[in-house]
Amino acid sequence: MPLVIATKNPGKVEELALLLPPEIRLLTAGDLGIALPEETGATYLENARLKAHAVAQAGYPALADDSGLEVDALQRQPGVRSARYAGEAASDDENNTLLLRNLHNVPDTARRARFVSVVCLVLPNGDEFCGVGTVEGTITHAPRGSLGFGYDPLFEIDDPQLPALTGHTFAEIPTHEKNRVSHRARAVHDVLRQLDARSLRLASLTGD
Ligand code: IMP
Repeated sequence: MPLVIATKNPGKVEELALLLPPEIRLLTAGDLGIALPEETGATYLENARLKAHAVAQAGYPALADDSGLEVDALQRQPGVRSARYAGEAASDDENNTLLLRNLHNVPDTARRARFVSVVCLVLPNGDEFCGVGTVEGTITHAPRGSLGFGYDPLFEIDDPQLPALTGHTFAEIPTHEKNRVSHRARAVHDVLRQLDARSLRLASLTGD
């Protein structure tokens, strides 16, 4: 039985694949023709659960992530609406432009932000394991770097656990390095730790 990633985003599949034990066979909801629900939840947790349960109800162990950027000076916006900050079909550039405009005149000392990810593993019997991961940083005054996606060029890492990367934006560090330390990586590790604490192994839960 494969583990099914409940996302339409091929980048996330690639990123999650690198974080999971190599023996786990991965498919996406799309590969199996399983429709994913709209992200109508008010929190990352609700959205991750919605997506993972939709796949688990079709009979497969499922992994889903929901993530966003929280900026303290904007009362933690764009948050759960990060992908749609500048409008329903907004591009990354439009979202980034709006974010910089809304932070116009906000001094360096007040530009603190964090990426947040919630990852949920849901089994066909309804058991679920959800984990959270964050990376701390600040929002720059202009984009820097050409790698990554979304808000990466505006997010300067300032995280006590990542001293060697501090001062670089997520778009300035190689993708494989970002993926290793990202909020999604930390959320996946949180889920794996929870399984470990209960002496459960992902490979046996997914039935392979
Ligand atoms: P979702 O998790 O697919 O709902 O999308 C979350 C949105 O948050 C993305 O479209 C990006 O705008 C933003 N986001 C989440 N993770 C990252 C990241 O690692 N880098 C840049 N932007 C991100």
